[in-house]
Amino acid sequence: MFAPSRLKLARQRLGLTLTGLANASGVSPRSLTNFETGDRVPSAESLEKLATALSVPTAFFDREALEAIAPEAASFRKLSKTSATRRDAVLAGASLTVEFYDYISSNFHLPEPNIPTLDKLAPEAAAELVRQRWALGDRPVANLVHLMESKGVRLGALKHQYHDIDAFCFVRDNTPYVLLNTSKSGERQRFDAAHELGHLVLHDELEMDPSTSKERESEANQFASAFLMPRSAVLAQSMRAASLDRVLAARRYWRVSAMALTHRLHELRLLNNWQYRTMCLNLSELGYRSTEPGGIVPETSQLLRKVMYGTAGRVTVRDAANALSLDQRDVRGFVRDLVPVSAADDLSDRGPAASAIDSPLGSERSGLKLVEGSQRRRRSG
Ligand SMILES: [Zn+2]
Repeated sequence: MFAPSRLKLARQRLGLTLTGLANASGVSPRSLTNFETGDRVPSAESLEKLATALSVPTAFFDREALEAIAPEAASFRKLSKTSATRRDAVLAGASLTVEFYDYISSNFHLPEPNIPTLDKLAPEAAAELVRQRWALGDRPVANLVHLMESKGVRLGALKHQYHDIDAFCFVRDNTPYVLLNTSKSGERQRFDAAHELGHLVLHDELEMDPSTSKERESEANQFASAFLMPRSAVLAQSMRAASLDRVLAARRYWRVSAMALTHRLHELRLLNNWQYRTMCLNLSELGYRSTEPGGIVPETSQLLRKVMYGTAGRVTVRDAANALSLDQRDVRGFVRDLVPVSAADDLSDRGPAASAIDSPLGSERSGLKLVEGSQRRRRSG
């Protein structure tokens, strides 16, 4: 059974227009339109051409129809700078990431979603309440990716070519998804993840009315800042008029960028305007505006590592690629840099090679538990 939605998605994920696909496949634009609307079903010959042009096996088009993620339902950080084609490409990738997690959850019990909805609160108060509900105290979050996974958030990687998109989130079947651009610094990714958590907590239903986009972005940033650097703890650290060295030491403690900490100190009036500007200038000169010299190792996924590279009944890249009718490279793309490189490179079924790999950062005491399904279900078709 040919699924028109899959043709459209396969085209969009490569950033191709109808004309672009027509040129690449030799199938006419008119036929393509008819195939995508479902008015006509492609011949076996056309299907072969399309599959080749779109780098998928023909079986990809025969799987069940896909529900696309609407652009309004996703929290794009920089929508204005993102062309519709690029936006559709990352959304198509996100749809496939959802299928990937659906496949994983047919083999493992994943943590239930547990994200508070606090859309009536100001970002600072919401961040404090989330910390309280999750019993985090006011210490630094050791590993935000692990923490979010334990609260039912499913994380995936964005294609690095979309470097102008840092991250976005959406909710599908009551399950929150966050896609991160893993080409950024560890601190940047961590802040991006906290920013998306802010959207999930503050912006119920994620109805992304473009007219209030700026406000939402600002709220999500305030949430991230307050969540990663709680007011009471920062105030207790004697950071008033802090020196550059002090800021560089404290950013390690909080595991945030020096710039993010500087903004926070200014926000909490621990740096006055003049001190804030001077600090920003000094950090800029030292290269801290676009990079994070001596920064943290980016956080990786505990869940994906256990599921894909653990010892018990794991889902290998090959399994997932077969089940989803995708290339193994696509599956590796979903988890790019979210599992340690040595594990991600282990593409063969050489056994539990990754069990010895441990997160360099230690684990959040998050209670993440993956329970293998008692009857491991394989998809039958
Ligand atoms: Zn945002």
